[in-house]
Amino acid sequence: MNAIQIDGKAIAGALRASVARDVALLKAECNVSPGLAVVLVGDDPASSVYVKTKAKQATAAGIRSQQFGLPNDVSEAELLNLIDDLNADDAIDGILVQLPLPGHINGGRVLEAIDPKKDVDGFHPYNVGRLAIGRPALAPCTPLGVMHLIKTVVSDLNGLDVLVIGRSNIVGKPLAVLLGDAGCTVTAAQIQTRKLGELCRKADIVVAAAGCAGLVRGDWLKRGAVVIDVGINRAIDSDGDAKLVGDVAFAEASKRASHITPVPGGVGPMTVAYLLSNTVSAAVWRRGLSLKVSHPVHHIRPLNHREGVRAG
Ligand code: NAD
Repeated sequence: MNAIQIDGKAIAGALRASVARDVALLKAECNVSPGLAVVLVGDDPASSVYVKTKAKQATAAGIRSQQFGLPNDVSEAELLNLIDDLNADDAIDGILVQLPLPGHINGGRVLEAIDPKKDVDGFHPYNVGRLAIGRPALAPCTPLGVMHLIKTVVSDLNGLDVLVIGRSNIVGKPLAVLLGDAGCTVTAAQIQTRKLGELCRKADIVVAAAGCAGLVRGDWLKRGAVVIDVGINRAIDSDGDAKLVGDVAFAEASKRASHITPVPGGVGPMTVAYLLSNTVSAAVWRRGLSLKVSHPVHHIRPLNHREGVRAG
């Protein structure tokens, strides 16, 4: 079997186009132009690239995007002051603080300072808690993107066995919640998990989010499994050039899986597209608006501006 590649780039492009239509509708029906503030501390090259991509794609979708660059030695108090200002600014609907933050800054304190209704990364404990109990919430972008990709190839998730490898706050844990809500039986593996290969062989869907290059081998997979590779790892190819690889041994896995995401070009573009989607959701949620969109994309609980956001 040769797996079908799930084209995250194309699917994310369609999602961004749909967000752009929603932005136009929001402007036309409610005179609201969603605004996104992206805060970058320091000059880490990878973070700078991520921030630029996010800002560029936000602008392309019609979202007003503002970037705030702070020096690496900025104090926590100064960063918290900026967040206070952005919380109070009615023109800003979404606030994103690019991680990682320098060691002298308490990341948890910073993320908790963001107004939960502007928390487009979905990392605030208010949103984490509401997501866990099925209340409307802004959910983290990567798990939303993974759900979207899975739903493009699996029409009925009810009763499927899913292995999620990795239990981080930003990927594995919220993804396990979303999959459970969708009717899946979820196994959440982490570094301490024993017999990972055996667990993998039982799974209809495998999501690898461990940050461990080539962890998932081809012979770990059930034939016909759907494989979503979240991992981004730097590696050197046979010509000595740097390249990005995922957590799945792609060539081997492609021989067993029915569908598989490539790295790059799989989950990554979906994460950015959901940041834009969350910015529109946040604009709708905070203002208590009801947006009737003509291009529903996916049913992703619990908060999706395409379905109209329930207050609460
Ligand atoms: P993390 O380091 O915070 O968490 C990793 C998790 O994987 C932990 O729960 C750990 O216990 C588990 N783990 C590590 N090695 C394992 C192993 N050998 N077996 C089983 N479990 C193992 O990482 P994270 O922030 O969740 O990111 C995970 C990966 O996903 C990284 O490669 C990261 O770059 C990538 N990522 C990609 C996107 C995207 O948009 N594509 C977004 C976020 C993270």
